[in-house]
Amino acid sequence: MIAEASPDLDPQTSVVAIDGPAGSGKSTVARRVAEASGLAYLDTGAMYRAITLGVLNRSLDPADRDAVAAALPAIDIEVGRTTVLVDGAAATDAIRSAAVTQNVSAVAANPAVRAALVGLQQQWISQQQGGVLEGRDIGTVVAPRAGVKVFLTASTRERARRRALETGGDIDEVEADIIRRDQLDSQRAESPLRKAEDADVIDTTEYSIDEVVGLITAMIEAAGLADTADTHEKRMN
Ligand code: C5P
Repeated sequence: MIAEASPDLDPQTSVVAIDGPAGSGKSTVARRVAEASGLAYLDTGAMYRAITLGVLNRSLDPADRDAVAAALPAIDIEVGRTTVLVDGAAATDAIRSAAVTQNVSAVAANPAVRAALVGLQQQWISQQQGGVLEGRDIGTVVAPRAGVKVFLTASTRERARRRALETGGDIDEVEADIIRRDQLDSQRAESPLRKAEDADVIDTTEYSIDEVVGLITAMIEAAGLADTADTHEKRMN
């Protein structure tokens, strides 16, 4: 359940929402922003990836919405700050495999999957009393009342260059995969990837990670969300 009391007690207002397409730098930036601000951190993409791994492990067709919805309650995922478990087994690296990356957008377009994961993400926000969440629909669906909303972008080529550096893949193939996933993520009926109207856009093409982290950290401080002793005490009262 989400607390719907007075705005002061609404944990969503203490959320830093970092959305954007694949390879825009969300993961690195969001992690570093959370550390710098002393806030909890949740990678919602890792949750969609973990469910996808559970679907593949069960030899289900990721595009078969009914079969995936039926299996969903039995797929046990734990997404922590640095480690991921799927059905009790370590899956931190496996959720980044080519097979998962290939199929995650189809699983993420399934309304049953979205309903379940958005519910878990909102529960996490209530438990943590806010925090930094990165994904595609944080500012629009998961936490529309987030205190800070950022939409990160970068040119497709730059996003592919970064991913290829990380994974050692071929830049043209990575770019083609990014374009395909962007299309699927932006065109799906259920909470498509789009910028929240009140989000600040940061085009990271020309910025270093440090600069982007600095910009967002300043926004968090301006919004009074950094977990200083002061704000911590305010939240407790
Ligand atoms: O962020 P990452 O690339 O790991 O996300 C993997 C996939 O999970 C995305 O391509 C998208 O299909 C899905 N996703 C989503 N909603 C989120 C986070 C991720 O649909 N909030």
